[in-house]
Parts: sequence; structure tokens; C-alpha cells
Amino acid sequence: MKILLANDDGYRAPGLRCLKDALSGVAPLTVVAPDRNRSGASNSLTLDAPLRVQQAEEDVWYVINGTPTDCVHLAITGLFDHEFDMVVSGVNDGANLGDDVLYSGTVAAAVEGRFLGLPTIAVSLVPERGQARHFETAARVARSLVDRLLSEPLHQSTILNVNVPDLPFEKIRGFEATRLGYRHRAEAVVKARDPRGRDIYWIGAAGPGQDAGPGTDFHAVANGFVSVTPLQVDLTRHGAIDGLRAWLQEPST
Ligand code: MN
Repeated sequence: MKILLANDDGYRAPGLRCLKDALSGVAPLTVVAPDRNRSGASNSLTLDAPLRVQQAEEDVWYVINGTPTDCVHLAITGLFDHEFDMVVSGVNDGANLGDDVLYSGTVAAAVEGRFLGLPTIAVSLVPERGQARHFETAARVARSLVDRLLSEPLHQSTILNVNVPDLPFEKIRGFEATRLGYRHRAEAVVKARDPRGRDIYWIGAAGPGQDAGPGTDFHAVANGFVSVTPLQVDLTRHGAIDGLRAWLQEPST
């Protein structure tokens, strides 16, 4: 049993350090992480430039000038002469709730690990506002889920998207199996001027939860529970195939 750790906040991020500490002793750990913050990288691969790997600590910490997906992709397709059995990504500094999962590099790293044929886990810490603080809480949550997966495996290739309230561990009320909610539209883009008088833009903040009622990931976290959402990669809207087939066959008028 070998576990691969990755993240999207970069190899210096406190959440990654906490995760590694919490999982030490479970199995041999290898960290492969981006050289800087690549939050919002989604599932992107670097195809137009070479990737370089630096060993920050021999046989344990590897740093890549690429995306979270690059990191996991390299790690499971030839960087090492052994295989991994599980990918744990995080602990992200910030929520990955609802539509966030489409943009998230933290979730993408876990998604990339699905080829391992074992459940992979993305862990995020959700502050009420500002920067997250209780990374140890999320790391302990990750440890308990990994222990549980090892003793009682889930269906293969399930991606677990875990969001942890930013609270002391004792204040966590439990675990809840959830579905993704979704957010209101993001806040408007922020327009500014660079020192040379040219327009520049900053992507605005994510919107608040819109579909955030009972059963959603938003609701669980807001009520002090760890939200665990099983994800799949198949984006097909299966229920729409028959209707689409009929629509395509209708004679044009
Ligand atoms: Mn991040």
C-alpha cells in the first residue's frame, strides 16, 4: 500500500504538511505537488512546455513546475518505478462545494487518480470567511477516512470530495453523505488599471450557495458536519439521450 499526496495550493502550503503528518504511519507516503499555488487549475495538463521535477526531500517530496493534474499524472505514469494505491489531495485552503469542483485543482488531482482503480480523496477546509485555520481538523478527518477505506473499501474509482468546517476537531458534529449543491453566479469581474494605465481584470469571488438546502454539501458544512460527496467523471446527462435522439430525427421544416 502506497499513498500519493498532492494539492493545488503548492508544496509550501500548510494544509499539505498537515495532511502528510496526519497520514504518516498509515502507509509509505510520497508527495508530488506544484511549485506554486495553482488553485483553479481544474484538470489542465501542461502540453506546451516540458515539466521538471525537483526532489525537495529524497524519495518523499517532489516539486513540479506544473498543474495538480500534471503532478498526479506524472506520478502514476512513469515518474516512479512503483505504483500507488490511493491519491489524497489537499488539504485545500478554501471550499470546494457545488460548482467549485469544476474549477478545483484539488479535486482534479483526486480525479486524475481514478485510474488507480481505488477510491481517491480530495479534502478541503471551509472557512466562514478569509483564510482557513484548522488544517489539523481536516487532516484528522482525512486520516479517519483513509483508515476506513483501507479496512472497508468502497466501490472502485469513487472520488470522494470532502469539505470540512473550519472548526476545532471536537466541534465537528459528524459526517454526512451529500450531493453537490450549486452557487449563485460569481461576483462581477474586478476591473482595475496597471501602473501604465492599461485595463486589467481580476476574476471575482465565487457566488454564495443557491442550491444549499438539506442533503447538499453546503448545508452539511454550514451545520458543522463534514460533507462527503461521491463524485463520478461521467458528465453525460443520461436522461436526456432519448429526447435528444428524437430531436435529431425530427424532419427539419
Ligand atoms: Mn487551492
